Amino acid sequence: MEADTIFAVASGAGQAAIAVMRVSGPASRTLLAMLCGRVPQPRRASFRRLRDAAGTELDQGMVVWLPGPGNYTGEDSAELYLHGGRAVLTGVADALVALGARPAEPGEFTRRAFLSGRMDLTEAEAVHDLVAAETEAQRRQALRQLDGALGTLYGGWADRLRLLLAEQEALIDFPDEDLPPEVEARVLGELAALRAEVAAHLDDGRRGERLREGLVFAVTGRPNVGKSSLVNALAERDVAIVSAIPGTTRDALETRVVLGGVPVILVDTAGLRDATDEIEAEGVRRARARAAAADLVIVVEQVVGAPQRQAERSAPSGTILVANKLDLGGVVPAGAIAVSALTGEGLATLRDCLADAARSLTQGAGPPPLTQARHRAALLEALQRLAGAQAADLPELRAEDLRLALRALGRITGTVGVEDILDTLFARFCIGK
Ligand code: GDP
Repeated sequence: MEADTIFAVASGAGQAAIAVMRVSGPASRTLLAMLCGRVPQPRRASFRRLRDAAGTELDQGMVVWLPGPGNYTGEDSAELYLHGGRAVLTGVADALVALGARPAEPGEFTRRAFLSGRMDLTEAEAVHDLVAAETEAQRRQALRQLDGALGTLYGGWADRLRLLLAEQEALIDFPDEDLPPEVEARVLGELAALRAEVAAHLDDGRRGERLREGLVFAVTGRPNVGKSSLVNALAERDVAIVSAIPGTTRDALETRVVLGGVPVILVDTAGLRDATDEIEAEGVRRARARAAAADLVIVVEQVVGAPQRQAERSAPSGTILVANKLDLGGVVPAGAIAVSALTGEGLATLRDCLADAARSLTQGAGPPPLTQARHRAALLEALQRLAGAQAADLPELRAEDLRLALRALGRITGTVGVEDILDTLFARFCIGK
């Protein structure tokens, strides 16, 4: 249990009607009593006047007393629903500091929830992802992880490994020639099964990570076929969503859209040629690298002009052929989706097709997908150790490999050896989470 009592505004920055101040730690109840006189019934929103130690009124609003351990952090906590003005928030913050509390570090509430056993590391990471989720599919994935889907999967493997290790350790005590063959056969069988499951989970086309990070679709084609017009037409319906995302700009090269509930960056390779200054050149360099690593390439052609040439072409996988300027009439090349960026004809079909592609790149039936590079690294190590255990010819060596595989799995959920990664992991969080 932590000694400090921490506080932070958990709602967003800037002026708002209501701001939520969170308090957590052993002194929460005392602080609440000092601020608002009477501590309310647990988990009941109650109206109170808040005063500092000198008796000056700071605000009036709802307060909730959330005694531990059955709450978010597992410690005694409180939430104050204050008027969202700067003077109110600084007044309450100053009063809390004067009473011995300190401002929370980024992610500190969630870190405490992890340390007090309220959630495992994959769930803590899901909290971060849910706060960052921009689209419906990202939200679904984060909620599933928050519900413990990944923790259960990895924890289940760890439990099986622990059993295996126990059996393997029992084998160590037998002299070589007396090894009970059925136990050894069972250990090897289960080892092979586990290895196959971990390998299958790793080999998922990065769909969970792709959904977390968003996809990149490159738009290519000759000059003047209408690439920019098409990108703008596709983005039009998303403009509100796109501009609501802080820190994103719609520049000439990259446009953010949402397709099939997945955030997608459309990289318009038309703009890749004409860099006139250094900053622009940097933008071009980045866009070119993005396009080269694109999850999907949209090849744009014109309906008019070259129907004969296109007859023998078909789109390679990872490519979608689009024939633009349908309004001008002409022949649509085989396998292409005909559209007019000008009139909007065919755009709904194209949109559906791109949404399907975005969904199949990021989502699938079955067990929850891997979502983080951190998990991938640990799983790769576990896989390597499992292979080592299969190949080991001495029981002691096999047991050691199993132990190392178990450690690697434990690092994902946070049951072993994570002190060194906690700072980095929680530093990405916002303050108040
Ligand atoms: P890009 O060089 O491939 O990015 O092509 P642009 O988007 O700049 O378009 C080139 C020209 O084609 C512009 O004059 C557009 O107005 C025109 N254009 C784009 N899409 C269509 C379309 O669907 N129909 C017609 N008639 N003209 C289009």
